Amino acid sequence: MTTKPFSYLPIVLRTDQRDALVVGGGQVAVQKMRLLKGRCRMLHIWAETLHPELAALVEQGQAVFWQGKVEEEALRIILPDMALVFAATDDEAVNGMVARQAHALRVPVCVVDAPALSSFITPALVDRSPVQVAITTGGASPVLARRVRQMVEAMLPARMGEAARFMQKQRDWLKDRLPGMKQRQRVWEFFVDGPAYEAALAGEEERARSQLEQLVEAAEGEADRPQGEVWLVGAGPGNPDWLTLAALRLMQNADSVLYDNLVAPEVLDRVRRDAERVYVGKKRSHHTLPQSDIEAEMLRRARRGERVLRLKGGDPFVFGRGGEEMDTLLAANVPVRVIPGITAANGCAAAAGIPLTHRDCAQSCVVVTGHARADGTLNLHWPSLARRGQTVVIYMGLSSMAELCQQMQAHGLPESWPVAVVYRGSCADQRCVTGTLGTIAGNVRRQGLQSPVLIIVGEVVHHRGEVMQAVPGHSTLKESA
Ligand code: SAH
Repeated sequence: MTTKPFSYLPIVLRTDQRDALVVGGGQVAVQKMRLLKGRCRMLHIWAETLHPELAALVEQGQAVFWQGKVEEEALRIILPDMALVFAATDDEAVNGMVARQAHALRVPVCVVDAPALSSFITPALVDRSPVQVAITTGGASPVLARRVRQMVEAMLPARMGEAARFMQKQRDWLKDRLPGMKQRQRVWEFFVDGPAYEAALAGEEERARSQLEQLVEAAEGEADRPQGEVWLVGAGPGNPDWLTLAALRLMQNADSVLYDNLVAPEVLDRVRRDAERVYVGKKRSHHTLPQSDIEAEMLRRARRGERVLRLKGGDPFVFGRGGEEMDTLLAANVPVRVIPGITAANGCAAAAGIPLTHRDCAQSCVVVTGHARADGTLNLHWPSLARRGQTVVIYMGLSSMAELCQQMQAHGLPESWPVAVVYRGSCADQRCVTGTLGTIAGNVRRQGLQSPVLIIVGEVVHHRGEVMQAVPGHSTLKESA
């Protein structure tokens, strides 16, 4: 037999000037009190015994405790003062009685786990107060409601409430400055699309305020677009699921994107469609665009008022020249924001199932560059690298692999010391080749691995586990030795 589903109207109820009552003192009552806390004038709990969390609320003066069995007579007296009531005891008869009284007095009531007795139900909530997102499936599926909640949680910046409060504070001021509603709306649209919003999210009130001021002047026709800025953003090792929420948000807001060959196409796909894409990686001549040209390009665009996204593989501050770019931009008075990314060491280790430290065999982990000097040699301090009890991670080490392995042995590590080489870790076509200081260079050559690869040297390679890939549909890591 199928029952006709109930109909619900989602509304937002004002409760700050009213009280609320929860009948029951257990775990369910705790959940309902958490929901009500800070949203009502006074809370009332009617129960025989109190959960410690509820007792604490009473102690702090945030709730009034009515101790004992619920009596019909007394309930009739206090109910009319309540904005709403929850019946949350484990006694059906008591819950039913509370519901009957509430219905008779037209007080909204929610009986836990009994929608048929309730005049309202509570939604799943994403709380960025004053921004609140309520989700309901009308009781069809709490699991589905939770899933939707998860999705919304990921979409809303953690400090969205902060930005909302800032915007609220500026409303009157803006009304005085710009009497036209359309004009004000336009300013707010610019605001939430741009750097001012990022500043408000970060709690940088002064910066947000001065940028808002610029937007207003632009709307009045007195000034150009506000100055642009540059966002140095880590794109991670390639798997788009491993982007940070902040990276995704900025990718959706940028006017232009400067990226190089390490940024995976799957990641670039997440950049807003109408953003201008500028490739600054290897040119057809196979020479990388000089660093100074890249920096000049960013400056030029920021000065034109663009929000420039400098998207970098991995983390911008790990072998990414992010430090140099930041220095140049700040010296030219262009504001810079830095968002970290999962660096290749972390990403490749996770993708290959190799821990970087391990209680048994690696108490430290060093990351180094295997990029050779102009004369072809490596400028590394071998005695501190060729050590037991330590993992050495080498970036950009493919072409100097032979020297690397030879030096590690010359400085005391055995030929049998384990090594793993991870190609395009976390990407759909990732591969991992293992071996020893004696065999790895040959293995890698035979397998035809190309750049980018990350080299992991140390006994942690023995602890490698057959992990599943983080993206459904990704091929499992191919093993080759
Ligand atoms: N900023 C980047 C590193 C840039 S240097 C980061 O934090 O990861 C470029 C080197 O990074 C490559 O030569 C390679 O050694 C390493 N690398 C980056 N992404 C990689 C990946 N997905 N798989 C293997 N190595 C990677």
